[in-house]
Amino acid sequence: MVLPFKHEPFTDFTVEENRKDYQAALAKVKGELGKDYPLVINGEKIYTDDKLVSVNPSNKKEVVGQVSKATQQHIEEAFSSSKEAFKEWKTWSAEDRARVLYRAAAIVRRRKHEFSAWLSYDAGKPWDQADGDTAEGIDFLEYYARHMVELEQGKPLTDRPNEDNKYFYQPMGPGVVIPPWNFAFAIVCGTTVAPIVAGNPVLLKPSENTPVIAYKLVEVLEEAGLPKGVLNFVPGDPAEIGDYLVDHKDTHFINFTGSRATGVRIFERATKIQDGQTHLKRVVAEMGGKDTIIVDESADLDLAAESIVHSAFGFSGQKCSACSRAVIHESVYDEVIKKSVELTKTLTVGNPTEDNVYMASVVNQKQFDKIKDYIEVGKQEGELVFGGETDDSKGFFVHPTIFKDLDPQARIMQEEIFGPVVAFAKAKDFDELLDIANNTEYGLTGAVISNNRENLNRAQTEFLVGNLYFNRGCTAAIVGYQPFGGFKMSGTDSKAGGPDYLQHFLNAKVVTERF
Ligand code: NAD
Repeated sequence: MVLPFKHEPFTDFTVEENRKDYQAALAKVKGELGKDYPLVINGEKIYTDDKLVSVNPSNKKEVVGQVSKATQQHIEEAFSSSKEAFKEWKTWSAEDRARVLYRAAAIVRRRKHEFSAWLSYDAGKPWDQADGDTAEGIDFLEYYARHMVELEQGKPLTDRPNEDNKYFYQPMGPGVVIPPWNFAFAIVCGTTVAPIVAGNPVLLKPSENTPVIAYKLVEVLEEAGLPKGVLNFVPGDPAEIGDYLVDHKDTHFINFTGSRATGVRIFERATKIQDGQTHLKRVVAEMGGKDTIIVDESADLDLAAESIVHSAFGFSGQKCSACSRAVIHESVYDEVIKKSVELTKTLTVGNPTEDNVYMASVVNQKQFDKIKDYIEVGKQEGELVFGGETDDSKGFFVHPTIFKDLDPQARIMQEEIFGPVVAFAKAKDFDELLDIANNTEYGLTGAVISNNRENLNRAQTEFLVGNLYFNRGCTAAIVGYQPFGGFKMSGTDSKAGGPDYLQHFLNAKVVTERF
């Protein structure tokens, strides 16, 4: 019997044995660095001369792996293979498809630290963050499998005498999955296996920053028994194949997670009907954030500082949910900043492929340069109270950075930085706290630190974000517990890891019979 869903537990790295196990996994992965990885089309492994080269962001001379790049011709072949595979895959029962996912979850669980160690190398993830990423991937496999089995039953409708009505779901056809690099296992896994378990073949184009760990997922699904052609792995240069995948007449859905700019581009292009296209494309686009923690005068100030610091600096702020703005009631403003600075001083920065550090480097030169520029902007717009150091001599290191006294309209209060930079601003009452919290075009996550029940009640409806947290940080959503997705320009609010997600990749059908 399949047990009810429960989230995958996290590893406690204060336990010596767990630290040793992780070090052993890092050593194993180190022994496998620098290999070549193929495209996978119709189960066939294809090596091309042109490669994406993935490096360790904390030690940029170290090559993690080289992954073959797909061309437009490969995309054509992948669509043909998907269409062929769809004929058979759509006839599998949800239960049979779910079993492939249960098996994949079991394989990853048995090799959990190894997957996390790949994340430490490929994406620069500190141990606890990598462990959380792998656990979330396992959760997506387990959750969507169970949910599809449930959905296959359809939904009840009202019947009349001598008439029977049925409501059930059917898969749509081949689609495209385009994930980001920052949850290089979890998001790649979740966005891929959801449409697959719903009965649709997928062309997966991983991020050019983290293609190696994405290939590891493809291997696992193959080992778990996924038939050929159901998952085609087509990494490549987005400038060469991105639009091609989105525009293709055979694309039924695009499951995208990434920046606002790319998401909007995909959203617009997908509305154009191509020659030979016989359906409207569905777009799931989960995009950026400018997430705020607000603190009122009734709050526990230690909890406020802890929530801000860990949400701002966990994985160097490279989460769509990261806290990049802390808006504080004026009566407790100085105290919260003081406590946040004290806590930030205790954070360690280093190479996660060598040590169990709190923060590592940021992902690449482009992100490093962008964050460095924003630190300069912050110095003009506010007062630097902590951090600001950057060093890209060995890896792309940016230290945790705190600014205060920002105008709510300042650039570092409005634009997504995606790095370890948090800006503090002051407000005179709860109205103003909420006004500032809502003053960006984004609406992804947010948190309220307060002991005032009236304020919490108001925030439930007036704080315009898809995921709102009370008296805790604004990151670390868990599949099945906090389904995830944003409002406004943060995306289509698909609520990944929740009960409405799989329906994005299904057509609901009604059959009525008169007797
Ligand atoms: P990105 O937009 O640069 O890239 C995302 C994906 O889109 C990559 O696979 C990339 O290769 C691909 N891509 C780029 N140009 C394309 C094009 N023209 N056509 C098709 N595909 C194209 O984003 P990123 O830097 O990988 O990720 C960071 C961003 O993702 C941040 O803005 C972050 O907030 C967001 N994010 C959002 C969520 C969420 O759930 N809302 C989760 C994680 C990350």
